[in-house]
Amino acid sequence: MKIHKELLELRQKEKRITSEILNKLQEMEDHREYLGMGYNSLFDYLVRGLHYSEATAYQRQACVRLAKEVPEIKQKIDQGSLSLTAVTTAFKHLRTKPVDEKRQVLKSLENKSSREVKKMFLEPMTPLKIQKTEYADKVLLRLELTHEQNQKLEKLKALKSHKHNIESLLVNLIEKELKSYESNQIKSSKINEVSAFKGTRPRNPRQISKRLRNDVFRDASFKCQHPGCNSNHFLQIDHIIPVRQGGDQRRSNLQVLCANHNRLKG
Ligand SMILES: [Zn+2]
Repeated sequence: MKIHKELLELRQKEKRITSEILNKLQEMEDHREYLGMGYNSLFDYLVRGLHYSEATAYQRQACVRLAKEVPEIKQKIDQGSLSLTAVTTAFKHLRTKPVDEKRQVLKSLENKSSREVKKMFLEPMTPLKIQKTEYADKVLLRLELTHEQNQKLEKLKALKSHKHNIESLLVNLIEKELKSYESNQIKSSKINEVSAFKGTRPRNPRQISKRLRNDVFRDASFKCQHPGCNSNHFLQIDHIIPVRQGGDQRRSNLQVLCANHNRLKG
């Protein structure tokens, strides 16, 4: 009995510390102080800077991000009516939803077990289900849509013209999307070719030729060059002296930064 009592007290303490940590992390995120220290995101800071496991780091980050929009969840986490698993699961599924919806869903997750929470997100929220069977001469796709998605598809079909059935509509959309992507690529490589031919740099100083881009990325070993950061995600070419301050696209003025460190530069 004595040990149980001690454990209960420790558990209380643990909860309090967790909530203190979350508050501090919130401050860290508000000022994005980790960027200056060479971490490219709160997650990166939690893993490399505070040595959390990736799974726990993801939970902490989810709490901080969600609590920023729906502050009342912090109190509920403290009281124990909202579990960290619930918050993490909600974070994953509600990322793009408006705040009101997040608030509503989070409320419905109170006092639910992890299993119940996971189940709630399973059925209606899974957006697209595809079953794929490959044959020698064709591929069979079985596509499961929500009614809402199906309505949108039907609407598009009606708008597109009556000659389409769903199959031809999808094939048509794929062809079109691919063509527009490919023609954009050709266009941009042509611009670079023309300017190379004239012996001038591309007129737009923000425009960097593909070859130069590749050089810059290769020299940086495909990693962010902000001191201390080694991120290889969302890399961008940065003008060391910004274009608006007269910086050009010469090799010596270019470096690789991850999106967050590029944003930090402003
Ligand atoms: Zn970086």
